Amino acid sequence: MKLLFVASECAPFVKTGGLADVIGAIPKAVKGFGADVRVLIPAYPAFDQIADGATKLASFRDLYGGPASVLAVEADGLQLLLLRADHLFARPGSIYLDGTGVDWSDNHLRFGALSFVGAQVAQGLLPDWVPDVVNAHDWQAGLVPAFMDPKKPKPPVVMTVHNIAFQGLFNAEAVDELGLDPALFTPEGVEYFGKLNFLKGGIALSDKITTVSPTYARELLLPEFGMGLEGLLAAREADLTGILNGIDLDVWNPGTDPELVANYTVRSLKGKAKNRAEVEARFGLTANGAGPLFCVISRLTTQKGLDVLLECLPGLVASGGRLAVLGTGDKMLENSFVQATGRYPGAVGVVIGYDEGLAHLLQGGSDAILIPSRFEPCGLTQLYGLRYGTIPVVARTGGLADTVIDANAAALSADCATGVQFLPVTPPTLGQAIRVTTTLFEDQKTWAGMMRRAMRHTVGWDQSAKVYMGLYQSLSKT
Ligand code: ADP
Repeated sequence: MKLLFVASECAPFVKTGGLADVIGAIPKAVKGFGADVRVLIPAYPAFDQIADGATKLASFRDLYGGPASVLAVEADGLQLLLLRADHLFARPGSIYLDGTGVDWSDNHLRFGALSFVGAQVAQGLLPDWVPDVVNAHDWQAGLVPAFMDPKKPKPPVVMTVHNIAFQGLFNAEAVDELGLDPALFTPEGVEYFGKLNFLKGGIALSDKITTVSPTYARELLLPEFGMGLEGLLAAREADLTGILNGIDLDVWNPGTDPELVANYTVRSLKGKAKNRAEVEARFGLTANGAGPLFCVISRLTTQKGLDVLLECLPGLVASGGRLAVLGTGDKMLENSFVQATGRYPGAVGVVIGYDEGLAHLLQGGSDAILIPSRFEPCGLTQLYGLRYGTIPVVARTGGLADTVIDANAAALSADCATGVQFLPVTPPTLGQAIRVTTTLFEDQKTWAGMMRRAMRHTVGWDQSAKVYMGLYQSLSKT
């Protein structure tokens, strides 16, 4: 089966969050089921070297202000279709933001172009490779079905929502600038209260909708989580499925991870201590504290509940805990965490920035990972935590609820706990979860049992790849 993925990020080439990991992983996971996935993605500068060896398959004389082409190349086990359009994508720095940290003013054209070319490939732009099913990922690919020509054969489209907080909302003039059919600018199509909404269009016009965990699929129907699209999603509930993300077990393997100073396995956890010492050194933390070494690896945003964590720092430190934070995002949060390192020297260490290698080391060297998200479609860092025996302490929401088994009395006596859950996301409840974690940590036998169970927990793609394939197959038959 030929599957076209349309997405704006793909690990290991270009990543700002979990979307990239998922786009990099699903094609490999479904290959074993006979799927031939091509990933259409903008040719950002990160692809420059790879593009050198690519084959040009199609070109456009003028794609929103400049020439463009579709290049095919295999890299890192993925079949990529690079959308080369230098006037849109050959820009330094963030793929979404300009040098001042604001969205590029032509993002509607940049990702409109991605969606447009996605629709073209879907409808036969590459005669040797016409997809059976298209999977559009997040708002950047949301207009794929809107751009399809109703007069031509149209493959079924799956719209996958990785995070409904990002919808791609633009002024109505963008409809004209993009050359979209004005008949689609209605509440049944791409219009949202007088504006153009890419993601809404994707949800309204696709055959099926998926999101990245069963709990988030249910939450999306509620006003607290649906971000204004809950009504539309409720109307399409029969077509909405939550399919849990997995992780790449080769890239995230404490037994072989080259970013760790010592590898370890579920049978021999000894190496973890060496990684902990390395984390302590890199984050300026005192060695061998009494309590657990917590970490955070995250975008620093209010979604992630890290403002709440700041309020819990006095309790965390007082109970002997230490905290290592790796993240980047809101300047206020960045500054607050940096200030905390001065207030709690040796107990709180912070690295502001994005560092893939350090993220691996933190998973290898920390005892627990804190994820107090207000909402979390799936979340990947708790899955990495499980795999690395780094106990996830998570808000009971979205994919966090679906992947972590809370260490309540019943789970402890049945020997099945893998982490700690709490709700709502408030300083007292997070503070309580930190205390529960610290108490569990004091009983090293219980803790080691939890670590081993966490490491054995299924976090790969096998199960979800089957579900995705079932969905694609059911659509390609219709
Ligand atoms: P989201 O997609 O909402 O940011 P996820 O938990 O789904 O959250 O995915 C986040 C991904 O980004 C994970 O792979 C995590 O390890 C990575 N990540 C987040 N922040 C950083 C950072 N500062 N440095 C390195 N990796 C990071």
